[in-house]
Amino acid sequence: MQPKQDHLNVELGERRYPIVIEEGSLGSMDLSPWVAGEQVLIVSNETVAPLYLEQARASFPGSRVDEVILPDGERYKTWETLNRIFDVLIDKQHTRRTTLVALGGGVIGDITGFAAATWQRGVDFIQIPTTLLAQVDASVGGKTGINHPQGKNMIGAFHQPRIVVADPLTLGSLPPTEMAAGMAEVIKYGLIRDEHFLSWLEEHMDHLMAMQPEPLKEAIRRSCECKAAIVAEDEREAGVRALLNLGHTFGHAIETHTGYSDWLHGEAVAAGMMMATDLSERLGYLNYNDSVRVRQLLIRARLPVNPPEGMSPVHFRALMQVDKKNVSGRVRLVLLRALGDAFVTEDFDPEAFEATLNHFCH
Ligand code: NAD
Ligand code: MG
Repeated sequence: MQPKQDHLNVELGERRYPIVIEEGSLGSMDLSPWVAGEQVLIVSNETVAPLYLEQARASFPGSRVDEVILPDGERYKTWETLNRIFDVLIDKQHTRRTTLVALGGGVIGDITGFAAATWQRGVDFIQIPTTLLAQVDASVGGKTGINHPQGKNMIGAFHQPRIVVADPLTLGSLPPTEMAAGMAEVIKYGLIRDEHFLSWLEEHMDHLMAMQPEPLKEAIRRSCECKAAIVAEDEREAGVRALLNLGHTFGHAIETHTGYSDWLHGEAVAAGMMMATDLSERLGYLNYNDSVRVRQLLIRARLPVNPPEGMSPVHFRALMQVDKKNVSGRVRLVLLRALGDAFVTEDFDPEAFEATLNHFCH
């Protein structure tokens, strides 16, 4: 039986694809219509496979389904792990008509997508994201890739999935810190382009953190809508897609400073969004009450609103200078003209920037 579906589409011409957001879709939804050949390879990891692999297999009744279970963690988003996927594809004689299926969080999604982009010069793939971050962010937009020892996401390709199937019920097993980290990106969408959604989040944050299915589904849907609209407008990040980096330049500095260990990406982004909000207030775009609203919402989502102890303005300046999104050596920031209205600039008052750094670093 096909469950009642909440459909939205990523509008990319010939590569247009649906995102299905429905509790219970994993296991009950027949994904055969999105499989071109007879072969399917499900890629998952040691944590997610015991929870959801059987259900995922049931979604491909007419196919020969193989699987590869990778070790869990960002540190395995590497060339060596990628090769394990290729080893299985070769071993099981998968052809150009195979379909790869990513079952897991953003790490599995990125590495599987990249395997699909490069196996036999590109084959179909399906995203079944199982973290909030992957459901609202990583699975939408077609960026795939792996890390190099010298830098995150350094090797990759744009490759769009055939379909994304997000089942909010899978979030029930997610550790609370991972849930909060995903919520940072949800809040980001409200802040960058949807004041109504931001108000809705203020109304429903407690329900969301209590994992109530209906509000959760709505939050995922509106987040995907927002990312899908931005991606449709700017698939290759030539313009508006940069707005998705709100809080990320400050956040990357935090992640690099802490060695990508203690802080989850979403946590660093939350503190980063608070810093971007503060700077936007200092520059006269936001008022005090706006900043209070952002702070309250992040706190209710159990997210940090300050950078880690011991991080100084010197650290921030040095780390932000080398951000890969910078153009011609100038720090590029996403700021807020108002809540729900972000813009990108390299041209901001350096004194206000200093004041923000000093305000947050003790
Ligand atoms: P993750 O994939 O590491 O998942 C977080 C943890 O949750 C892992 O331990 C995972 O095994 C576990 N997990 C996953 N689903 C679970 C479930 N339902 N129940 C219990 N545990 C579960 O991390 P993430 O936050 O999902 O994704 C982060 C990655 O996504 C990064 O590598 C980042 O670069 C990438 N990313 C990509 C894009 C993109 O556009 N392609 C966007 C944002 C992030
Ligand atoms: Mg992010």
